[in-house]
Amino acid sequence: DLTWRYILHGKKYFTEKKIPKHDLSINFKHLFRNEEKTEFMPEINNIHIHLAKKRFSEIFPDVEPLTVKRSWSEYIDFLPDSLPIIDRHPIFKNIVIATGFSGSGLALGPAVGKLVSDILNNKPLNLDITKFKYRK
Ligand SMILES: Cc1cc2nc3c(=O)[nH]c(=O)nc-3n(C[C@H](O)[C@H](O)[C@H](O)COP(=O)(O)OP(=O)(O)OC[C@H]3O[C@@H](n4cnc5c(N)ncnc54)[C@H](O)[C@@H]3O)c2cc1C
Repeated sequence: DLTWRYILHGKKYFTEKKIPKHDLSINFKHLFRNEEKTEFMPEINNIHIHLAKKRFSEIFPDVEPLTVKRSWSEYIDFLPDSLPIIDRHPIFKNIVIATGFSGSGLALGPAVGKLVSDILNNKPLNLDITKFKYRK
């Protein structure tokens, strides 16, 4: 869903090679939505559901084609370099930011929770998270 914010920042994302650009489709319907005021669920894109079924059949040709019973959609939190930020806020040091998990945040939840807790408690970290530092 293209909004003004994406127009301002979107170009940063197009330098990232890992984003599968052939899978992108742009919806102009919500261009003027005020994202700060209205929480919003994106519309389900049936083209992508069809593509997912097709790809599944290509990968598993011996399996019966899938029937979709229910579908849902949401936005995926993504930063331009595809890496998350796990760091103290640059100004408000008692806030720790953990965001931008590029569609893998559920799996990473326990590890990230431990890191955030250790950062807040000034404990030594058991992982090197230099790459996840906040950068301007
Ligand atoms: C379709 C889809 C499929 C996915 N599949 C997987 C998967 O298979 N495996 C996997 O590991 N991950 C998956 N993910 C990614 C995973 O869901 C996210 O990475 C993870 O939920 C991010 O967690 P978070 O706590 O950073 O953010 P969120 O879960 O987005 O939590 C942020 C919270 O902050 C709240 N919030 C926002 N603004 C405000 C405000 N101003 N004031 C108060 N509250 C606010 C929101 O309501 C929300 O509850 C998927 C995501 C999507 C959309």
